Amino acid sequence: MPELPEVEIVKRELKLHIENAVIEHIKLSEKVITGHKENKRTIVKNDLKSFTEQVTDSKILTVVRRGKYLNFSLQKQNQYFNLVSHLGMSGGYFIVDSPDQIAEENYRTHTHVTFKLSTNQYLVYADIRRFGELRIVPKISEFKPFVEMAPEYFEAHSKDAFIQKITDKRFSGMTIKQAIMDARVIPGVGNIYANEALFKSGIRPTRKAGRISKSRLSDLHAEMVKILDEAIVRGGSTISDYRNTSGGSGTMQDRFVIYQKKICPTCGKNVHTKVINTRNTFYCTECQR
Ligand SMILES: [Zn+2]
Repeated sequence: MPELPEVEIVKRELKLHIENAVIEHIKLSEKVITGHKENKRTIVKNDLKSFTEQVTDSKILTVVRRGKYLNFSLQKQNQYFNLVSHLGMSGGYFIVDSPDQIAEENYRTHTHVTFKLSTNQYLVYADIRRFGELRIVPKISEFKPFVEMAPEYFEAHSKDAFIQKITDKRFSGMTIKQAIMDARVIPGVGNIYANEALFKSGIRPTRKAGRISKSRLSDLHAEMVKILDEAIVRGGSTISDYRNTSGGSGTMQDRFVIYQKKICPTCGKNVHTKVINTRNTFYCTECQR
């Protein structure tokens, strides 16, 4: 599942290729069309006809990231609006000269939204499990996930906001692992980086969030910042379901110390595994308290 660093890499690559391009044509997959006929709103969250009409002939002004979302600012004549996208569990964007050029078969056979650009390239959204989203948002200031989202991890007030959110009764009763994977507490930390940051700060993932001291929360925040920064520098992690826009992969997976490991690198004991909120959790009962 792509986490913040992977989405950030995708955003940086998209910016180089699609800013100022005009979307000339949109092609939707049979799965999307059938899903909409069955009222499932597969991937595209607006009515398909209005989505296609509004986005066709619009110009991509810029693309930014917020948490794990990509936000494309579009202009059509004198109208400005946003196309907000989430990669879900296995979504990916590709920039190719033709849609059959996507190297990985898993993605090539699961392309769902294909934008033909004025640059003669294609921006393709592929998604094996179809949990991703594309949604036209007329007023971004009213988009609920953004309204509720905590500051980005690198912002000056991120740490204070993080500590304050943990003490909020909506989150204080959660396990710390569940809390740090909630974008309202800190955006963009998914399962892998949550496991790694909790190990590095010596905090047991099963611990109740509201019972952890401020100084330990401060350490945890610092470890999350370090990991997210390093993962971006390393081009993200490539496990099974993340590729960058040209089909390449990152190297952050080589730096994992606890995720999917059997032996604790610090004390040599067996790594403990447990499912927390449906996600595999790895920790050392000796080193994490
Ligand atoms: Zn250990």
